[in-house]
Amino acid sequence: MTSALKPLILVVEDEPGLVEMLAYNLEREGFRAATAGNGEEALLMAAEQTPHLILLDWMLPLMSGLEVCRQLRRNPKSRDIPIIMLTARGEEADRVRGLNSGADDYIVKPFSPAELVARVRAVLRRTSPSLAEEVLRFGDILMDLAGHRVRRNGRDVHLGPTEFRLLRHFMQHPGRVFSREQLLDLVWGHDVYVELRTVDVHIRRLRKALNDENDEDVIRTVRSAGYAMDMKTA
Ligand code: CA
Repeated sequence: MTSALKPLILVVEDEPGLVEMLAYNLEREGFRAATAGNGEEALLMAAEQTPHLILLDWMLPLMSGLEVCRQLRRNPKSRDIPIIMLTARGEEADRVRGLNSGADDYIVKPFSPAELVARVRAVLRRTSPSLAEEVLRFGDILMDLAGHRVRRNGRDVHLGPTEFRLLRHFMQHPGRVFSREQLLDLVWGHDVYVELRTVDVHIRRLRKALNDENDEDVIRTVRSAGYAMDMKTA
């Protein structure tokens, strides 16, 4: 999937730590993320960039999320964009108010990144089915993200969790070269201390699992730069 085809999610939240966590996890799962820190900004960005979905916090400075939601629904440019409200409030009355103001779904804080991504996919599947694609393809390699399965040429490929994330990353960015540092950051995460040569170890495992004797090696080693996923025949 090229980056222009990835669904754009607008994150509207004023708490920087949460914004960072949300954007990081969405991008890691194959979405693009745009962010707005208050309602005014959110309304502008929604009209200009027409995101595929808006994650909207209830508690925002100046204008409440509820009011932002109502205004988004009044503007023809943003009327059809699905909205998931994020909130610390769990009471039934608030839930009803949120949904009445035009939200499509509602997530109560605290939530796990996995739960959030699942809800985003569920809403997108309903509102724009082609965007919720959970299968990545590259040449003869098929990656089913939801089922956590990989097949090549009809045969099952068994990967460990790190190799799975590595492959997903390459399949989401085919042709692009990533340095070992970038791969550590993007696949292992920001706060993990791992030696650079660990990347080589997992690339080796990924190659071994992916390539049968007659298969083309799709992982290209770029000397002194890193790795990329390429295929002559793709
Ligand atoms: Ca907030």
